[in-house]
Amino acid sequence: MTQPSRKRELGRGERVLPGVWRLRLPLPWPGVPHCNAWALAAGDGIVLLDTGMHEPGSFAHLERALAQVNLRVENVRLLVCTHAHSDHYGQAATIIQRAGCELWMHPNHEHMTRAAEDPEEALARRLEVARQSGVPEAPLRAYETSARSRNFGIAGIVLPDRDLLPGVEVHTDLGPWNVVETPGHAPSHVCLYQEERRILISGDHLLGRVSPYYDYGYTPDPAGEFLESLSRVEDLDMRLCLPGHGRTFTDIPAHITANRIVVAERLEKCLETLRDHGPITAFDAVPLVYGEAITPLNANWWLSETLCYLRHLEVTGRARRTEGEHGEPERWVLPGS
Ligand SMILES: [Zn+2]
Ligand SMILES: [Zn+2]
Repeated sequence: MTQPSRKRELGRGERVLPGVWRLRLPLPWPGVPHCNAWALAAGDGIVLLDTGMHEPGSFAHLERALAQVNLRVENVRLLVCTHAHSDHYGQAATIIQRAGCELWMHPNHEHMTRAAEDPEEALARRLEVARQSGVPEAPLRAYETSARSRNFGIAGIVLPDRDLLPGVEVHTDLGPWNVVETPGHAPSHVCLYQEERRILISGDHLLGRVSPYYDYGYTPDPAGEFLESLSRVEDLDMRLCLPGHGRTFTDIPAHITANRIVVAERLEKCLETLRDHGPITAFDAVPLVYGEAITPLNANWWLSETLCYLRHLEVTGRARRTEGEHGEPERWVLPGS
């Protein structure tokens, strides 16, 4: 029997189209072994889409991936981030310092930049959400300790030189790319669309594998925003998707449908849980919604996701919450019960 390999991957670069290179950069996360940055030919240099995460040794992976396709960080004329998560924005500070280029990103980046500026306030907010959601004291304290020892996976806080909003065009040798706002996965999320070649750079909005993730607590209804963002992208005529993780794919409408099905199933599971077990805290609802016990690995992700679904059901009139009195957690019920 062979032991599963624990060897970390190295950064790798490959050409996917003339003037388009995929830079595959390793990540330290279980189940998410790497992310993609995309290099696009632009005059005498490149536009770089996304950055990889910042951690010890991470910049060498980016340099190695670029070198494999005969590029260097100094060739970057413009850095564009699809959203401000660490795996897409983490090395931005180092890249713009080395390349002397601008950073363009959507203005709703506070979910990262404000949190990184004041980690204690961000942690206090998360702990308050967790407490309200019914997370018991012991796991709450364990989370607090591990969160204090973690960093944000970014080299530094850098703010965009230009707000990446609809109407802004990113110019490359393939032609101009248009900004499509796609909040949901993150408030700052955008996709970039090249109309003549029908290519979408999708960040984490559309991935080869359906894996919903939302930042809870920054916008009124992340799951609802995600569903709207799926429709916004569906209206585009596309033949190729360059995602933030994994390989390129072509059957984009099928991927959009698959995302809608997963969201609809989870919403249905939430409704069932409220019907059969309400009033219930979000924390107690998680294992019922997913059919699996909470573990330290999935707790944060699944609780945020469940809160986003409950919130979506609330804003669409299909669920309501009872105010927790005297520090009691909030409980969720069907309306009318
Ligand atoms: Zn992300
Ligand atoms: Zn990502």
